[in-house]
Amino acid sequence: MIPGQFEYHQPASLGDALALLARHGDDARPLAGGHSLVPAMRLRLAEPRVLVDLARVKELRGIEERDGAIVIGAMTTHAELAASSLLAKKCPLLVEAAHHIGDLQVRNRGTIGGSLAHADPAADWPPVVLALDAELELTGAKGTRKVAATKFFTDIMQTALKTGELLQAIHVKPTGASVAYVKTEQKASGFALCGVAAVIDRAAKRASVAITGVAATPYRAADVERALVGTSMSAADIAKAAKTAADGVQPLGDIHASEEYRAHLARVNTARALERAAGRK
Ligand code: FAD
Repeated sequence: MIPGQFEYHQPASLGDALALLARHGDDARPLAGGHSLVPAMRLRLAEPRVLVDLARVKELRGIEERDGAIVIGAMTTHAELAASSLLAKKCPLLVEAAHHIGDLQVRNRGTIGGSLAHADPAADWPPVVLALDAELELTGAKGTRKVAATKFFTDIMQTALKTGELLQAIHVKPTGASVAYVKTEQKASGFALCGVAAVIDRAAKRASVAITGVAATPYRAADVERALVGTSMSAADIAKAAKTAADGVQPLGDIHASEEYRAHLARVNTARALERAAGRK
């Protein structure tokens, strides 16, 4: 199918992009890599009357260190994240996860901001920003606000973004090397049947674990994290904690994987991710 008719704008600054979005309200949609929005338009699942292409908005690009945090512009592509030497040194979970996304063409075109704003329940970035306790910088015509990643994903493919707002940047704190992303993918698309991001803070004797692909929204595995507080992250500690990875969650079931299988993957991949983060595998 071909999309319905739409106006196309390519603003050169963040201010111009926000002005266009404010002027057209619910009729307008930002366009990033187009890997999700364009197919949705072709199927007429999305019918924006106005597309605001963010490709030339420099303020939305790049990865930099600012006041002890790492700031990633929303239009940074998966490939740029995968190749970043700053991230390899300071936040290696982002580099590892980027390599898991799609194929080379998808990584060259798709953006971290587009992925987070789209909030596909099987996408790879949501569990990563959750496990890193990232803050998401949202900007609209009336100003900027920061939302914790834990408050950003509100329902299936729904986020805290309001009409006219853009996800401008993702702020993360540097981590050590005790991190891992373990994914079982749906073979045709590469999307996650279950992806688990784990970050171990040895000094604080705690871990963050977040899971995608299993439920309608990505989630922090709170029971797993609670079970690991104060432990030495031994194999036995991890095996016991990982058993709770799908507790209290309503797993999705579809032609690719049943509810039971997704819950099983959540437990297995949580144990694997924590073992890898602990440096044993
Ligand atoms: P777009 O499609 O341009 O936009 C998506 C949505 O976000 C739209 O609603 C748009 O209006 C909105 N939006 C975009 N940018 C912003 C912003 N800055 N602020 C507010 N709203 C915004 N993803 C994975 O995680 N793992 C995979 O394995 C994977 N495999 C893929 C395989 C294929 C064949 C394809 C086509 C895609 C795959 N993807 C995968 C998804 C892809 O990597 C992109 O992340 C995803 O399509 C969205 O990013 P985009 O930049 O293309 O956004």
